[in-house]
Amino acid sequence: MRLKGKTIVGPATFKGGIHPNDMKAATCKRPIVDLPASKEMVYPLQQSLGVPAVPCVEVGDRVLMGQKIAEAGGFVSAHIHSAVSGTVTGIEPRMTVSGIKMNSIIIENDELDELCDDIKPLDWKKLSPKEIVDAVREAGVVGLGGATFPTHIKLSPPEGKKIEYLIINGAECEPYLTSDHRAMLETPEEIIEGMKIMLKVFGLKVAYIGIEINKPDAIKKIAEFAEKEKDVTIKVVKLKTKYPQGSEKHLIKAVTGKEVQSGKLPVDAGAVVDNIDTCAAIGRVFLYGAPLLKRIVTVSGDCIQTPSNFRVRIGTNVQDVIEHCGGFIKPAAKVIIGGPMMGVAISDVDIPIIKGSAGILGFSADMVAKKKVQNCLRCGKCVEGCPMNLLPNALKDAVIKEDFDKLNKLGLMDCIQCGSCTYVCPAEQTPLQYIRTGKAKLMKARQEAKK
Ligand code: SF4
Ligand code: SF4
Repeated sequence: MRLKGKTIVGPATFKGGIHPNDMKAATCKRPIVDLPASKEMVYPLQQSLGVPAVPCVEVGDRVLMGQKIAEAGGFVSAHIHSAVSGTVTGIEPRMTVSGIKMNSIIIENDELDELCDDIKPLDWKKLSPKEIVDAVREAGVVGLGGATFPTHIKLSPPEGKKIEYLIINGAECEPYLTSDHRAMLETPEEIIEGMKIMLKVFGLKVAYIGIEINKPDAIKKIAEFAEKEKDVTIKVVKLKTKYPQGSEKHLIKAVTGKEVQSGKLPVDAGAVVDNIDTCAAIGRVFLYGAPLLKRIVTVSGDCIQTPSNFRVRIGTNVQDVIEHCGGFIKPAAKVIIGGPMMGVAISDVDIPIIKGSAGILGFSADMVAKKKVQNCLRCGKCVEGCPMNLLPNALKDAVIKEDFDKLNKLGLMDCIQCGSCTYVCPAEQTPLQYIRTGKAKLMKARQEAKK
């Protein structure tokens, strides 16, 4: 039985998925190093899902470390804070990870790290659930696993929806990335504090933390800290090492046995899933009064001289981070922000680290060389590997034909864009690329049908 018994339970998993080489050996034993901030810090106003934030500073203003510099632009949005003290030198379009220029606040770092007066510890035990959620919102916390969903919304389930399961995602199933692994080893107190705070918000007494079995030291460390808790129960669920084990729907299935139905959200299955470092960020809001100023970033790949894990201040230049690893030792044919499966390839490293930047990966031409694309072999490997039980090859064909009825029937919108189908294809077909295009076209067709 998965949910009863000792502190450590499992191993659990889900049907489907793939087994890429995890490539984590280069950094999983490398402790997190605090990185100095760049001289010029850049804060794109879009750093969370939803609407962009709105600047609350002007060019010429002096700002302090931890000061709010942009207000959430709506309910689904998040405040942005300066991670340095300095002067606002511009509010202007700058290149971002998405490959487009976005309005950004530029701060000239004075390197004094003069702290804002607002930064004070908060005793969450004396606060109501609503006051806790307000403090998390004020701190600009978003999902640090990459999705950047504003955390205050996750902590505010819709009226009538009861949360039964709080699940913390320590799977870190993306190859190469080890930032969550290191966070579990180095900041377990902050993670456990974050879990206790979230348990209070949801009125629960039991929380689950899912960790893949390729991180036995993290399982042991978190279990040791979990066992010290007297007022709440924290269960560590061992997960089989499989991609995409960290996807919300698959983690819920593995931990609770419950399915999140097509078109539904985790909250419909009574579950909230949050990433390890997000949970630690919630802990830090109360332990130190800290807004979201830093995140852990894994820098790896065959082009990087010294693959490492860094605690990077948000706004720091990606090129500066790479240089702290000794720079590229050979030409990088591909640089990815995030993991190799779901990350974003960038063409320009002169962009800032934002709240959702979990990794920087540099790969040489040897690593990214592709074989010649062949016709689909109808081998079914993409179907076997799809964790959502979809037919990726059929989806691809329907996208090419723009057959929207068929795309709806095939469940296009259920695709979680994990990339497993593209990864396993022996013919070098790229179903995910077509699926992304198909989703955009289907959304447009639905909007036009509504007019
Ligand atoms: S990208 Fe979509 S279709 Fe492909 S394996 Fe993942 S969920 Fe299935
Ligand atoms: S894995 Fe590739 S070759 Fe095999 S059925 Fe899928 S798309 Fe076709």
